[in-house]
Amino acid sequence: MPHLYTCQACRTEAPQRRDYREDAEADQQAHRDAAHGGHRPIDGDGVRRVHHASRGDGILPRHTFLAFVVLLVLILANSCHH
Ligand SMILES: [Zn+2]
Repeated sequence: MPHLYTCQACRTEAPQRRDYREDAEADQQAHRDAAHGGHRPIDGDGVRRVHHASRGDGILPRHTFLAFVVLLVLILANSCHH
């Protein structure tokens, strides 16, 4: 699972997801140096694990979609009996 550095103090995140935590921590150090003069932001920052972009973040999980389709079919089947 890739890693992404985010800074809550600046409400920013690194431009790239990193396959290795060490690379995301390098982003962290670079941001602290560039934006905070090397200081650690009090509001917090850190490396978090993120999903692969190819998995389609923000799209409904497949089983939720299937449950919706089944429900729709049941409703349609029911309405045909009347
Ligand atoms: Zn920052």
